[in-house]
Amino acid sequence: MESSRKLEAIRALIPYSCEIVPAGCASAVFFYVPYVPFKSEPGVARVDSFYAASNLAYNLAGRYAEKLREFGIACSPNPEIDYKAAIGGSVGKNTLLYRKGLGSRFAIGAILLGEELPPFNGAQYAEMPCEGCDLCARACPLGAIGERFDRGRCMRQYMLRPEQAGEEVWAAFEDRILGCDICQRVCPMNSEEEQPMPQEVRQLLDYGNFVRSLKEGNLGGFAKYFGKNYARKNSLLAMFLICAANAEDKRFFELARQCARSDSFRVRAAAAYALKKLRRRREDGVT
Ligand code: SF4
Ligand code: SF4
Repeated sequence: MESSRKLEAIRALIPYSCEIVPAGCASAVFFYVPYVPFKSEPGVARVDSFYAASNLAYNLAGRYAEKLREFGIACSPNPEIDYKAAIGGSVGKNTLLYRKGLGSRFAIGAILLGEELPPFNGAQYAEMPCEGCDLCARACPLGAIGERFDRGRCMRQYMLRPEQAGEEVWAAFEDRILGCDICQRVCPMNSEEEQPMPQEVRQLLDYGNFVRSLKEGNLGGFAKYFGKNYARKNSLLAMFLICAANAEDKRFFELARQCARSDSFRVRAAAAYALKKLRRRREDGVT
């Protein structure tokens, strides 16, 4: 099949904005799955809807690659390359990629082709108004955005491995167990639209249900929505303890006491924080 027919087949198959860029001595197809942030709700742990979109993009890349191979186009999905570096284009002060019409709210799916195709850009770069704008820098609770982006201060680095951070970061997590959207929320390049959590996600992340699933080691629902790489019991338990502590939810004091004896240092560190915060709350007699 000639290159132009292959390009047509790729574009006909993938209903999202996509780009084809050089990747080593071949090409890679990148497509952008948009998402709308979830509204947060009291008593429901916060997971950024980016992770649902990212999981979808991962699964779609597998399905698209299978189809492309049926068309005779050699390829493999989800290559282990740096997507952002390969794609390039508009980047915000928060180091996220931006595209016209999507802002920064998209997850990237990728397929590595077995050959080089002419570059194709089906997604337009956005003109970034970063010069003279510091909304994201002012909004970041940890001061990660400045002249340079300080990755070591961004709370996303410590999601699911909170023991590597300190109490300043744990407090900034608030009720988040995965993801931080603060710098995207204030960016004028993004829409202010939000969506209610789908019922199934709300049930999954409801504090009581979530703890039950963790105790039973039943993380299939979490893996289905957000990806199996994130469905790790001790990591999620540690994040939940911090979330419950920040939400000052005394129902989980006993859980924190049990977790203080965990074999996992990650869980014990989070439990110590939860015990400190929730004990103070109990002593204050706040109901
Ligand atoms: S908030 Fe302003 S400075 Fe930050 S990424 Fe958006 S446009 Fe750029
Ligand atoms: S993701 Fe959150 S912590 Fe990281 S830079 Fe943005 S606002 Fe700051």
